[in-house]
Amino acid sequence: MSNSRAPGRHFLQIPGPTNVPDRVLHAIAEPTIDHRGPDFADLARTVLTGLQRVFQTSGPVVVYPASGTGAWEAALVNTLSPGDRVLTVRTGWFATLWSDMAKRLGLEPVVMETDWRRGADPAAIETALREDTDHRIRAVCIVHNETSTGCTSPIAAIRAAIDAAGHPALLMVDTISSLGSIDYRHEEWGVDVTIGGSQKGLMLPPGLSFNAISDKALAAAEIATIPRSFWDWQPMLEANAGFYFPYTPATNLLRGLREALAMLEEEGLGNVFARHARHGAASRAAVRAWGEAGGMEVQCLEPRDYSGSLTAVRLPEGESADGLRRLILQGFNMSLGNGLGMLKDRVFRIGHLGDFNDLSLIGTLGGVEMGLRLAGVPHTPGGVDAAMGVLTGSTEE
Ligand SMILES: *Cc1c(COP(=O)(O)O)cnc(C)c1O
Repeated sequence: MSNSRAPGRHFLQIPGPTNVPDRVLHAIAEPTIDHRGPDFADLARTVLTGLQRVFQTSGPVVVYPASGTGAWEAALVNTLSPGDRVLTVRTGWFATLWSDMAKRLGLEPVVMETDWRRGADPAAIETALREDTDHRIRAVCIVHNETSTGCTSPIAAIRAAIDAAGHPALLMVDTISSLGSIDYRHEEWGVDVTIGGSQKGLMLPPGLSFNAISDKALAAAEIATIPRSFWDWQPMLEANAGFYFPYTPATNLLRGLREALAMLEEEGLGNVFARHARHGAASRAAVRAWGEAGGMEVQCLEPRDYSGSLTAVRLPEGESADGLRRLILQGFNMSLGNGLGMLKDRVFRIGHLGDFNDLSLIGTLGGVEMGLRLAGVPHTPGGVDAAMGVLTGSTEE
Protein backbone atom coordinates (compact mmCIF):
# COMPACT_ATOMS: atom_id res chain seq x y z
CA MET A 1 0.00 0.00 0.00
CA SER A 2 2.90 2.36 0.71
CA ASN A 3 3.90 2.49 -2.98
CA SER A 4 0.40 3.18 -4.36
CA ARG A 5 -2.21 5.87 -3.94
CA ALA A 6 -4.11 5.67 -0.65
CA PRO A 7 -7.74 6.44 -1.60
CA GLY A 8 -10.09 8.23 0.81
CA ARG A 9 -9.08 10.39 3.73
CA HIS A 10 -6.29 9.57 6.11
CA PHE A 11 -7.67 8.94 9.63
CA LEU A 12 -5.51 11.12 11.88
CA GLN A 13 -6.65 9.59 15.19
CA ILE A 14 -3.69 10.55 17.33
CA PRO A 15 -4.63 12.77 20.29
CA GLY A 16 -3.25 15.81 18.54
CA PRO A 17 -2.61 17.22 16.05
CA THR A 18 -6.23 16.50 15.11
CA ASN A 19 -8.12 16.59 11.81
CA VAL A 20 -8.44 20.20 10.62
CA PRO A 21 -11.91 20.97 9.21
CA ASP A 22 -12.14 22.35 5.65
CA ARG A 23 -13.58 25.64 6.89
CA VAL A 24 -10.44 26.23 8.96
CA LEU A 25 -8.11 25.13 6.13
CA HIS A 26 -9.81 27.57 3.75
CA ALA A 27 -9.51 30.42 6.26
CA ILE A 28 -5.78 29.74 6.63
CA ALA A 29 -5.35 29.68 2.82
CA GLU A 30 -6.57 33.31 2.43
CA PRO A 31 -3.83 35.82 1.43
CA THR A 32 -1.65 37.09 4.28
CA ILE A 33 -2.61 40.58 5.51
CA ASP A 34 -0.71 43.55 6.97
CA HIS A 35 -0.35 42.81 10.67
CA ARG A 36 -0.27 46.55 11.42
CA GLY A 37 -3.32 47.41 9.31
CA PRO A 38 -7.00 47.87 10.31
CA ASP A 39 -8.14 44.41 9.11
CA PHE A 40 -5.67 42.83 11.49
CA ALA A 41 -7.02 44.73 14.50
CA ASP A 42 -10.51 43.41 13.70
CA LEU A 43 -9.14 39.89 13.49
CA ALA A 44 -7.21 40.22 16.75
CA ARG A 45 -10.23 41.68 18.58
CA THR A 46 -12.45 38.78 17.48
CA VAL A 47 -9.87 36.16 18.34
CA LEU A 48 -8.81 37.54 21.73
CA THR A 49 -12.41 37.93 22.94
CA GLY A 50 -13.37 34.52 21.50
CA LEU A 51 -10.47 32.91 23.38
CA GLN A 52 -11.75 34.41 26.65
CA ARG A 53 -15.03 32.54 26.12
CA VAL A 54 -13.24 29.25 25.45
CA PHE A 55 -10.96 29.60 28.52
CA GLN A 56 -14.03 30.88 30.44
CA THR A 57 -12.27 33.98 31.74
CA SER A 58 -12.73 37.75 31.65
CA GLY A 59 -8.96 38.25 32.03
CA PRO A 60 -6.26 38.42 29.36
CA VAL A 61 -5.27 35.52 27.09
CA VAL A 62 -1.95 35.90 25.25
CA VAL A 63 -1.18 34.08 21.99
CA TYR A 64 2.29 32.87 21.04
CA PRO A 65 3.47 31.67 17.62
CA ALA A 66 4.77 28.49 19.27
CA SER A 67 3.82 24.92 20.09
CA GLY A 68 2.39 24.18 23.54
CA THR A 69 5.88 23.71 24.99
CA GLY A 70 6.53 27.43 24.49
CA ALA A 71 3.44 28.34 26.51
CA TRP A 72 4.62 26.03 29.34
CA GLU A 73 7.87 28.00 29.44
CA ALA A 74 6.02 31.33 29.29
CA ALA A 75 3.91 30.38 32.33
CA LEU A 76 7.00 29.54 34.40
CA VAL A 77 9.35 32.37 33.38
CA ASN A 78 6.76 35.12 33.79
CA THR A 79 5.81 34.21 37.36
CA LEU A 80 8.74 32.53 39.13
CA SER A 81 12.33 33.15 40.26
CA PRO A 82 15.41 30.88 40.31
CA GLY A 83 15.27 28.39 43.20
CA ASP A 84 11.50 28.62 43.63
CA ARG A 85 9.87 25.30 44.42
CA VAL A 86 7.06 24.06 42.20
CA LEU A 87 4.81 21.13 43.13
CA THR A 88 4.28 18.86 40.13
CA VAL A 89 2.28 15.64 39.93
CA ARG A 90 3.77 13.08 37.57
CA THR A 91 0.49 11.88 36.08
CA GLY A 92 2.24 10.81 32.87
CA TRP A 93 4.67 11.82 30.14
CA PHE A 94 3.54 15.41 29.64
CA ALA A 95 3.60 16.20 33.36
CA THR A 96 7.15 14.75 33.40
CA LEU A 97 8.29 16.96 30.52
CA TRP A 98 6.87 20.11 32.13
CA SER A 99 8.51 19.26 35.46
CA ASP A 100 11.87 18.59 33.73
CA MET A 101 11.57 21.95 31.98
CA ALA A 102 11.04 23.67 35.34
CA LYS A 103 14.26 22.09 36.56
CA ARG A 104 16.22 23.27 33.52
CA LEU A 105 14.92 26.80 34.12
CA GLY A 106 16.47 26.80 37.60
CA LEU A 107 13.33 25.95 39.56
CA GLU A 108 13.13 23.14 42.12
CA PRO A 109 10.35 20.69 41.25
CA VAL A 110 8.84 18.77 44.18
CA VAL A 111 7.49 15.75 42.33
CA MET A 112 4.52 13.65 43.46
CA GLU A 113 4.46 10.23 41.80
CA THR A 114 1.43 8.32 40.48
CA ASP A 115 1.00 4.99 38.67
CA TRP A 116 0.01 6.83 35.44
CA ARG A 117 -3.48 5.28 35.69
CA ARG A 118 -5.32 8.15 37.42
CA GLY A 119 -5.28 11.93 37.78
CA ALA A 120 -3.70 14.04 40.52
CA ASP A 121 -5.05 13.47 44.05
CA PRO A 122 -6.34 16.70 45.69
CA ALA A 123 -5.98 15.26 49.23
CA ALA A 124 -2.29 14.46 48.65
CA ILE A 125 -1.74 17.98 47.30
CA GLU A 126 -3.43 19.45 50.38
CA THR A 127 -1.17 17.40 52.67
CA ALA A 128 1.99 18.45 50.80
CA LEU A 129 1.01 22.10 51.00
CA ARG A 130 0.15 21.90 54.73
CA GLU A 131 3.63 20.46 55.34
CA ASP A 132 5.18 23.39 53.45
CA THR A 133 4.77 25.69 56.45
CA ASP A 134 7.25 28.34 55.24
CA HIS A 135 5.54 28.51 51.81
CA ARG A 136 8.62 27.62 49.77
CA ILE A 137 6.38 26.10 47.11
CA ARG A 138 5.44 28.96 44.78
CA ALA A 139 3.32 27.11 42.24
CA VAL A 140 1.31 23.93 41.79
CA CYS A 141 1.55 22.68 38.17
CA ILE A 142 -1.10 20.25 36.95
CA VAL A 143 -1.86 18.72 33.54
CA HIS A 144 -5.67 18.80 33.20
CA ASN A 145 -5.84 16.03 30.60
CA GLU A 146 -2.74 13.80 30.62
CA THR A 147 -2.52 12.93 26.94
CA SER A 148 -0.16 10.00 27.54
CA THR A 149 -2.68 8.12 29.75
CA GLY A 150 -6.18 9.43 29.02
CA CYS A 151 -6.69 10.50 32.65
CA THR A 152 -7.93 13.94 33.72
CA SER A 153 -7.21 15.69 37.02
CA PRO A 154 -9.99 17.38 39.05
CA ILE A 155 -8.96 21.04 38.84
CA ALA A 156 -11.80 22.53 40.93
CA ALA A 157 -11.03 20.06 43.74
CA ILE A 158 -7.31 20.88 43.53
CA ARG A 159 -8.16 24.59 43.85
CA ALA A 160 -10.24 23.75 46.93
CA ALA A 161 -7.33 21.71 48.35
CA ILE A 162 -4.91 24.64 47.96
CA ASP A 163 -7.43 26.93 49.67
CA ALA A 164 -8.09 24.41 52.46
CA ALA A 165 -4.34 24.31 53.17
CA GLY A 166 -4.35 28.13 53.30
CA HIS A 167 -1.41 28.10 50.90
CA PRO A 168 -0.55 31.07 48.61
CA ALA A 169 0.99 29.04 45.74
CA LEU A 170 -0.06 29.89 42.19
CA LEU A 171 -2.11 27.25 40.37
CA MET A 172 -0.96 26.55 36.79
CA VAL A 173 -2.85 24.16 34.53
CA ASP A 174 -1.93 22.65 31.16
CA THR A 175 -5.13 22.33 29.08
CA ILE A 176 -3.39 21.64 25.78
CA SER A 177 -5.45 18.48 25.11
CA SER A 178 -8.63 19.48 26.98
CA LEU A 179 -9.39 23.03 25.86
CA GLY A 180 -12.41 22.92 23.56
CA SER A 181 -13.05 19.24 24.41
CA ILE A 182 -13.52 18.89 28.18
CA ASP A 183 -15.23 21.45 30.44
CA TYR A 184 -12.64 23.89 31.77
CA ARG A 185 -13.19 27.15 33.69
CA HIS A 186 -10.11 29.31 34.20
CA GLU A 187 -11.81 32.00 36.27
CA GLU A 188 -14.40 30.05 38.26
CA TRP A 189 -11.78 27.46 39.26
CA GLY A 190 -9.32 30.13 40.38
CA VAL A 191 -6.51 29.10 38.05
CA ASP A 192 -3.63 31.58 37.77
CA VAL A 193 -2.10 30.53 34.46
CA THR A 194 -3.79 28.22 31.98
CA ILE A 195 -1.71 26.86 29.10
CA GLY A 196 -3.41 25.92 25.82
CA GLY A 197 -2.39 24.86 22.32
CA SER A 198 -3.94 25.11 18.86
CA GLN A 199 -3.64 21.59 17.43
CA LYS A 200 -5.93 19.51 19.64
CA GLY A 201 -9.47 20.46 20.66
CA LEU A 202 -9.20 23.78 18.83
CA MET A 203 -9.01 21.93 15.46
CA LEU A 204 -6.09 24.00 14.10
CA PRO A 205 -2.70 22.92 12.80
CA PRO A 206 0.17 23.11 15.31
CA GLY A 207 1.79 26.51 15.77
CA LEU A 208 -0.18 28.59 18.28
CA SER A 209 -0.23 28.39 22.06
CA PHE A 210 -1.84 30.39 24.84
CA ASN A 211 -1.57 31.66 28.40
CA ALA A 212 -4.75 32.75 30.21
CA ILE A 213 -3.60 34.92 33.11
CA SER A 214 -5.14 35.84 36.50
CA ASP A 215 -4.58 39.10 38.41
CA LYS A 216 -2.53 37.15 40.96
CA ALA A 217 -0.26 35.85 38.17
CA LEU A 218 0.13 39.38 36.80
CA ALA A 219 1.22 40.54 40.26
CA ALA A 220 3.69 37.62 40.49
CA ALA A 221 5.14 38.69 37.12
CA GLU A 222 6.19 42.01 38.64
CA ILE A 223 8.60 40.36 41.07
CA ALA A 224 9.62 37.24 39.08
CA THR A 225 13.32 37.21 38.11
CA ILE A 226 13.94 34.32 35.71
CA PRO A 227 15.25 36.14 32.61
CA ARG A 228 12.57 36.47 29.94
CA SER A 229 12.29 38.29 26.67
CA PHE A 230 10.34 36.60 23.86
CA TRP A 231 7.86 35.10 26.35
CA ASP A 232 7.39 38.29 28.40
CA TRP A 233 3.67 38.97 28.96
CA GLN A 234 4.10 42.72 29.43
CA PRO A 235 4.89 43.90 25.85
CA MET A 236 2.31 41.41 24.58
CA LEU A 237 -0.43 42.76 26.86
CA GLU A 238 0.44 46.36 25.98
CA ALA A 239 0.24 45.69 22.23
CA ASN A 240 -2.88 43.49 22.60
CA ALA A 241 -4.69 46.38 24.34
CA GLY A 242 -4.81 48.05 20.90
CA PHE A 243 -5.36 44.67 19.17
CA TYR A 244 -1.82 44.43 17.80
CA PHE A 245 1.22 42.27 18.64
CA PRO A 246 4.78 43.29 19.65
CA TYR A 247 6.25 41.16 16.82
CA THR A 248 4.88 39.58 13.65
CA PRO A 249 2.00 37.31 14.69
CA ALA A 250 1.10 34.07 12.88
CA THR A 251 -1.51 35.95 10.84
CA ASN A 252 -2.87 33.02 8.84
CA LEU A 253 -3.15 30.74 11.85
CA LEU A 254 -5.08 33.52 13.62
CA ARG A 255 -7.47 33.54 10.62
CA GLY A 256 -7.92 29.81 11.15
CA LEU A 257 -8.42 30.36 14.86
CA ARG A 258 -11.20 32.86 14.18
CA GLU A 259 -12.99 30.23 12.09
CA ALA A 260 -12.43 27.47 14.66
CA LEU A 261 -13.76 29.64 17.49
CA ALA A 262 -16.84 30.42 15.38
CA MET A 263 -17.40 26.69 14.82
CA LEU A 264 -17.16 25.93 18.55
CA GLU A 265 -19.70 28.67 19.27
CA GLU A 266 -22.08 27.49 16.54
CA GLU A 267 -22.12 24.03 18.10
CA GLY A 268 -22.20 25.42 21.64
CA LEU A 269 -19.43 24.64 24.13
CA GLY A 270 -21.78 22.53 26.28
CA ASN A 271 -22.62 20.36 23.25
CA VAL A 272 -18.93 20.10 22.36
CA PHE A 273 -18.10 18.78 25.84
CA ALA A 274 -21.05 16.34 25.80
CA ARG A 275 -19.99 15.03 22.37
CA HIS A 276 -16.45 14.32 23.58
CA ALA A 277 -17.69 12.65 26.79
CA ARG A 278 -20.01 10.40 24.76
CA HIS A 279 -17.21 9.38 22.39
CA GLY A 280 -15.01 8.58 25.38
CA ALA A 281 -17.76 6.38 26.86
CA ALA A 282 -18.30 4.54 23.55
CA SER A 283 -14.54 3.98 23.13
CA ARG A 284 -14.21 2.53 26.62
CA ALA A 285 -17.18 0.24 25.95
CA ALA A 286 -15.34 -1.05 22.87
CA VAL A 287 -12.12 -1.68 24.82
CA ARG A 288 -14.01 -3.51 27.60
CA ALA A 289 -15.71 -5.73 25.02
CA TRP A 290 -12.37 -6.55 23.35
CA GLY A 291 -10.88 -7.30 26.76
CA GLU A 292 -13.77 -9.41 28.01
CA ALA A 293 -11.65 -12.56 28.18
CA GLY A 294 -8.93 -10.58 29.95
CA GLY A 295 -5.73 -8.87 28.91
CA MET A 296 -6.88 -5.70 27.22
CA GLU A 297 -7.78 -2.72 29.42
CA VAL A 298 -8.52 0.99 29.49
CA GLN A 299 -5.34 2.59 30.91
CA CYS A 300 -7.33 4.96 33.17
CA LEU A 301 -8.57 3.10 36.26
CA GLU A 302 -10.51 5.91 37.95
CA PRO A 303 -13.99 6.60 36.47
CA ARG A 304 -13.91 10.17 37.86
CA ASP A 305 -10.80 10.81 35.76
CA TYR A 306 -11.95 9.35 32.40
CA SER A 307 -11.01 11.56 29.45
CA GLY A 308 -13.33 12.70 26.69
CA SER A 309 -10.36 13.57 24.43
CA LEU A 310 -8.66 10.22 24.08
CA THR A 311 -8.64 6.63 25.27
CA ALA A 312 -5.33 4.90 26.03
CA VAL A 313 -5.58 1.13 25.59
CA ARG A 314 -3.31 -1.38 27.34
CA LEU A 315 -2.62 -4.50 25.32
CA PRO A 316 -2.26 -7.96 26.86
CA GLU A 317 1.21 -8.57 28.33
CA GLY A 318 3.76 -9.41 25.62
CA GLU A 319 1.81 -7.86 22.72
CA SER A 320 3.37 -4.95 20.82
CA ALA A 321 1.26 -1.80 20.59
CA ASP A 322 3.68 -0.30 18.07
CA GLY A 323 3.42 -3.40 15.87
CA LEU A 324 -0.38 -3.10 15.96
CA ARG A 325 -0.24 0.59 15.07
CA ARG A 326 2.09 -0.13 12.16
CA LEU A 327 -0.29 -2.77 10.73
CA ILE A 328 -3.26 -0.41 11.11
CA LEU A 329 -1.43 2.40 9.32
CA GLN A 330 -0.40 0.09 6.46
CA GLY A 331 -3.73 -1.66 6.15
CA PHE A 332 -6.24 1.10 6.83
CA ASN A 333 -4.42 4.43 6.48
CA MET A 334 -5.09 5.37 10.11
CA SER A 335 -2.60 6.89 12.57
CA LEU A 336 -3.07 6.06 16.27
CA GLY A 337 -1.09 7.54 19.18
CA ASN A 338 1.93 5.64 20.53
CA GLY A 339 2.77 4.80 24.13
CA LEU A 340 5.04 7.39 25.75
CA GLY A 341 7.68 7.01 28.45
CA MET A 342 7.07 3.91 30.56
CA LEU A 343 4.02 3.07 28.40
CA LYS A 344 6.10 2.73 25.21
CA ASP A 345 4.85 -0.25 23.16
CA ARG A 346 2.44 -1.20 26.04
CA VAL A 347 -0.42 1.12 25.07
CA PHE A 348 -1.80 2.75 21.99
CA ARG A 349 -3.98 5.85 22.14
CA ILE A 350 -7.19 6.58 20.27
CA GLY A 351 -7.69 10.33 19.78
CA HIS A 352 -11.39 11.21 19.64
CA LEU A 353 -11.10 14.96 19.97
CA GLY A 354 -11.59 17.92 17.69
CA ASP A 355 -13.65 17.76 14.49
CA PHE A 356 -15.07 14.29 15.04
CA ASN A 357 -18.48 12.56 14.88
CA ASP A 358 -20.15 9.21 15.53
CA LEU A 359 -19.20 7.72 12.19
CA SER A 360 -15.60 8.93 12.54
CA LEU A 361 -15.54 7.03 15.83
CA ILE A 362 -17.07 3.86 14.38
CA GLY A 363 -14.59 3.99 11.48
CA THR A 364 -11.75 4.46 13.94
CA LEU A 365 -12.83 1.60 16.19
CA GLY A 366 -13.48 -0.59 13.12
CA GLY A 367 -9.88 0.03 12.05
CA VAL A 368 -8.66 -0.95 15.51
CA GLU A 369 -10.74 -4.13 15.61
CA MET A 370 -9.55 -5.22 12.15
CA GLY A 371 -5.98 -4.45 13.25
CA LEU A 372 -6.37 -6.63 16.36
CA ARG A 373 -7.46 -9.49 14.08
CA LEU A 374 -4.62 -9.04 11.62
CA ALA A 375 -2.02 -8.69 14.36
CA GLY A 376 -3.33 -11.79 16.15
CA VAL A 377 -3.75 -9.87 19.42
CA PRO A 378 -5.94 -12.00 21.72
CA HIS A 379 -9.30 -10.22 22.03
CA THR A 380 -13.04 -10.83 22.04
CA PRO A 381 -14.74 -9.51 18.87
CA GLY A 382 -17.63 -7.09 19.33
CA GLY A 383 -15.98 -3.85 20.43
CA VAL A 384 -17.49 -1.87 17.58
CA ASP A 385 -20.91 -3.33 18.41
CA ALA A 386 -20.53 -2.30 22.06
CA ALA A 387 -19.63 1.25 20.97
CA MET A 388 -22.67 1.39 18.67
CA GLY A 389 -24.80 0.39 21.65
CA VAL A 390 -23.56 3.38 23.61
CA LEU A 391 -23.88 5.77 20.64
CA THR A 392 -27.49 4.75 19.98
CA GLY A 393 -28.38 4.94 23.64
CA SER A 394 -29.35 1.26 23.76
CA THR A 395 -26.67 0.44 26.37
CA GLU A 396 -24.97 2.49 29.06
CA GLU A 397 -21.21 2.64 29.34
C1 LIG B 1 0.48 17.94 23.14
C2 LIG B 1 0.70 18.27 24.55
C3 LIG B 1 1.78 19.03 24.98
C4 LIG B 1 2.90 19.43 24.07
O1 LIG B 1 2.56 20.42 23.21
P1 LIG B 1 3.47 20.73 21.93
O2 LIG B 1 2.51 21.51 21.09
O3 LIG B 1 3.86 19.42 21.34
O4 LIG B 1 4.63 21.53 22.39
C5 LIG B 1 1.85 19.38 26.31
N1 LIG B 1 0.92 18.98 27.18
C6 LIG B 1 -0.12 18.23 26.82
C7 LIG B 1 -1.11 17.80 27.83
C8 LIG B 1 -0.26 17.85 25.49
O5 LIG B 1 -1.30 17.07 25.12
